[in-house]
Amino acid sequence: MFETLTDRLGGILEKLTKRGALSESDVNEAMREVRRALLEADVALDVVKSFTDRVRVRAVGAEVLRSVTPGQMLIKIVHDELIKTLGSDAQAIDLDAPAPVAILMVGLQGSGKTTSTAKIARRLTERMKRKVLMASLDTRRPAAMEQLAVLGEQNGIATLPIVTGQQPVQIAKRAMEAARLGGFDVVLLDTAGRTTVDEALMAEVADVKKQVSPHEVLLVADALTGQDAVNTARAFEERVGITGIVLTRVDGDGRGGAALSMRHATGKPIKLLGTGEKADALEDFDPARVAGRILGKGDIVALVEKAAQAIDAEQAAKMAARMQKGAFDLADLRDQLTQMENLGGVGGVLGMLPGVAKMKDQIAASGMSDATFRRQRAIIDSMTPQERRSPDLLKASRKRRIAAGSGTKVEEVNRLLKMHRGMADMMKAMGGAKRGPLAGIGRA
Ligand code: GDP
Repeated sequence: MFETLTDRLGGILEKLTKRGALSESDVNEAMREVRRALLEADVALDVVKSFTDRVRVRAVGAEVLRSVTPGQMLIKIVHDELIKTLGSDAQAIDLDAPAPVAILMVGLQGSGKTTSTAKIARRLTERMKRKVLMASLDTRRPAAMEQLAVLGEQNGIATLPIVTGQQPVQIAKRAMEAARLGGFDVVLLDTAGRTTVDEALMAEVADVKKQVSPHEVLLVADALTGQDAVNTARAFEERVGITGIVLTRVDGDGRGGAALSMRHATGKPIKLLGTGEKADALEDFDPARVAGRILGKGDIVALVEKAAQAIDAEQAAKMAARMQKGAFDLADLRDQLTQMENLGGVGGVLGMLPGVAKMKDQIAASGMSDATFRRQRAIIDSMTPQERRSPDLLKASRKRRIAAGSGTKVEEVNRLLKMHRGMADMMKAMGGAKRGPLAGIGRA
């Protein structure tokens, strides 16, 4: 999957690995090629544009971490933005509704709708232990109904008995009644497809949707059809409304164009990937994993992430050195508070310490909370650089200005100054100690 794009992007970015810095002209040149590669991969033009723009903004002038090359840095940025383009929030099928939960499967003929219906039914049965009923609403092609019945039999999934002469809406109604009577948790409704999007198809799907109020409307789209798949998805979203996308045939998709364009074009998440003809060839959509496949540079991404951590450690060491000299000013305190936030706030930092979970109540009682830290940072932000360096300057009128500027009270400003003084004194007293108390928490 995605081999072509992998090679193209990898080649382009590798060219940068031997250069000195991430300059504007380098980034622009790389982005021109990335743009060409993405367009050749059939990624929608507006997606390509917004993608390369975002990478350019982040990359030009970006600080290249020591121990990685500019090209490696750019690969990491491209990787992060690929994840964003794919939709960073992976979403599974949502079954959170009163049973029977209806899931409507829509899409063009041949997109893999019936196959995906059976795959999903099997997954919900096996992994989620749901009792699933499948029903085919394809009244035009009796063979389609038969196909679903056969798939049901092969995979041990119940299918609604075929009654000839019924309209799709009637069949859908019958399926929901049968599910209620039979104690089914989920009903998968496989609608009819056409070879192209037309109004009759849309009207039929819309009618069925009105009848059963499905909790999910999943559009099935064939990744191999690239832009056509994206246009189909957009048409269904506009006319019928969908809740998610199942992208099929990604096993044969060397380009990833449809995957990259879907979220941007429809605003709806890809939920599942079809990766083969077999009933278990279905994967949860994981943006990080797909971005990794498109880029094929997982090792470099990991390397840059490690380098970024090392930089954090370096900054901490620098600050520790300042503290030892007793030069811990309010700007340093602000850095500490920021670092805490980057590490996931109080919960994130303390969560790294063994045994802390048990102390939750004491921590809450001490007033140590993310909200407090945010207010403390706001207070420091409202000071002038000079005030941060020399807190002694802070007399009553300045404190009033700072309190007003940060939306806090003078008492809070005083509390912060007192805390800072305590910390600075303690650090001076410890003298040889390697780390300040907050740095100690952060690095544990
Ligand atoms: P429908 O007309 O939309 O219901 O399409 P079908 O479910 O009948 O699928 C059409 C063909 O595509 C069948 O031969 C399936 O086996 C095949 N197919 C469906 N999904 C995938 C997939 O993810 N990968 C591959 N390689 N083939 C698939």
